Amino acid sequence: MSFRLNVLAIDQPFDGRSSQFGTVLFRCYLSQTRPSCKAQSKSQAQIDSFELSEDTALMSIASTDKITGRCYCGSITFRSASKPLTVAYCHCEDCRRATGGPVAAFAAFDDDAITFEPNEGKNVTVNPGVTRSFCDNCGSSLAGRYEYLPNQIYISIGVIDQAADLAPVVHAHEANRLTWLHIVDDLERLDATATTKLNAT
Ligand SMILES: [Zn+2]
Ligand SMILES: [Zn+2]
Repeated sequence: MSFRLNVLAIDQPFDGRSSQFGTVLFRCYLSQTRPSCKAQSKSQAQIDSFELSEDTALMSIASTDKITGRCYCGSITFRSASKPLTVAYCHCEDCRRATGGPVAAFAAFDDDAITFEPNEGKNVTVNPGVTRSFCDNCGSSLAGRYEYLPNQIYISIGVIDQAADLAPVVHAHEANRLTWLHIVDDLERLDATATTKLNAT
């Protein structure tokens, strides 16, 4: 049975810790709707068997409460009065293409927490339900919003001034990682975890 994880976000509320990881999964798996992406449909059984790593879940998200940033040309700036909900790598093709890098990384915030000046730039929707924003002068990838994640905004880590303080806590869509890209860490790698658990049952 084909199943998109974002449905889970609606049906099953998460506690504070697991919601961080649920968020990562949900947004990442949206890329499955694109024919150009390697679809990895998850069955309900796979989803049910997915469990969070305690070590990863307990990692600190961020130590800073004040977030600021700007696009490449500086014509758009933004700030947040609160620290991120989570910070994550995403290896999916959709995020790579939107950001232009070999892997994307994002900090998630409550949408209300982010203020752009003078505005958020140009909104672009390629996949239904996903709106990404870019500076309309220099093209920097600023943010993404997802209909199934109401009231959240994902800011590209590279445009955040405090990026050095916002270490990702998880790799999403590990299966789509470019094979020549090697990031050495002990973070949870979500696709591999789900697959392993399925094979074990
Ligand atoms: Zn992605
Ligand atoms: Zn710009």
